Amino acid sequence: MNFIEALKLKSKLFFIFIIITVGLLFIGIMGAINLNSMKKNLDSLYFGSFVPVIELNTILQTYHGNLASSIYKAKNMQITPYGVKLQIKLSINTIEREWKNYEAHFKRNGEAEYVEYVAAEIKDTNRYFYTILEAIENGHDAKDLVMSNVEKKITHIHEVVNKLIDYEVEVAKYERKAFLNVYGSILLKVGSILGIVIFSVMIISFYVFKSIQSNQTALEIATKKLKIANKKLENASYTDTLTGLHNRRYFNLIYDREIKRAKRNHSYITFMMLDIDYFKQYNDTYGHIEGDAALKSVAKVFKDILKRPSDFVFRLGGEEFGILLTETPESNSTVVASNICDAIKAREIKHAGSKVNNFLTVSIGVACCIADEALNEEVLISRADEMLYSAKERGRDRYSITTNISVATPHVAEETSA
Ligand code: GH3
Ligand code: MG
Ligand code: MG
Repeated sequence: MNFIEALKLKSKLFFIFIIITVGLLFIGIMGAINLNSMKKNLDSLYFGSFVPVIELNTILQTYHGNLASSIYKAKNMQITPYGVKLQIKLSINTIEREWKNYEAHFKRNGEAEYVEYVAAEIKDTNRYFYTILEAIENGHDAKDLVMSNVEKKITHIHEVVNKLIDYEVEVAKYERKAFLNVYGSILLKVGSILGIVIFSVMIISFYVFKSIQSNQTALEIATKKLKIANKKLENASYTDTLTGLHNRRYFNLIYDREIKRAKRNHSYITFMMLDIDYFKQYNDTYGHIEGDAALKSVAKVFKDILKRPSDFVFRLGGEEFGILLTETPESNSTVVASNICDAIKAREIKHAGSKVNNFLTVSIGVACCIADEALNEEVLISRADEMLYSAKERGRDRYSITTNISVATPHVAEETSA
């Protein structure tokens, strides 16, 4: 069944459609052929056996009921000579017509001889009744008719025709048996064909569906892998490779989203700009590689302190970082900024080139407000930037905070040293 595997999904479905259609057509044709042959059997049973028996019975009935009884009535003066003549003529006509019909049917071998004999006997009997007819026509009195002779003739022809009826009944029984046999064999044939076709269709369908399923599974696995790869790619595209923090691309996305959310909810929003103090000197003293290691250490401190899913830390470039806190009031933002300053110092990253401390320190500018429709996101950033500048100016290793986020020249609401 390798060729099924090689087919495309659409072709597989088309293939199974063709198989089912061909199967059904085949069943239909075979059914029609067999039904036709059954119909032929029925025809031969009906016209070959039942109809002849009916015709022969009509002949007997006519002899008894019409011919004999009209002669009897004539003898007893119950009908007129004209009536009896008419009856005899009509009866003989009926008998001859029925016999002709009977003779026209298909006759089996060995039957012909007896049929010929019966024909001769019927002719002879009819001739006898014609003589009676002639005698009545010639004026003989019906009263003189000898009934025992009539009865003898009728009994004789009755026996002869009855024997033929018995034969036909036997043939009918035989034909019925043969028909039932044929019917049984047709049923068996149709049943077997149907079984084979259904079985074949099931087998082929099974392979096609199995193949479709394995395609489906492969597709699902590929889709899953693709999703994971996409996720990884997306994460990578939003992650700073050196520190593992979110990068500026992600900042652009998240900052806009969180500002909008805060505006909708009229909730607190805090943005911090962070910059390592005298980092140029750090690189100059310890080299660029050590500088990178220090950046990683600082990033680790940020990650350790900011654990809430609604806190975001970004490396915005070089040794500058951005922190976005949502739903954090001014007092808490102050605590976070202070903690960061302390935690970085507590890392005790030696910084001989620093003019403010023996260890690496950061300066932080904090802008915090309750967001409303009037809030300008650009201004929030520039206020944080201004606060950073202020912290640097005031001696570094500290943070400055403002809650004034108006477009007009800022007024530093609060400025705190760490
Ligand atoms: P201050 O901010 O305290 O005013 O002084 P500074 O020395 O930090 O000043 P500035 O911001 O001008 O210097 C930033 C320095 O950071 C310049 C560069 O040597 C260093 N730097 C920027 N990006 C990287 C980086 O990815 N790795 C390393 N090792 N150093 C970097
Ligand atoms: Mg800088
Ligand atoms: Mg700096």
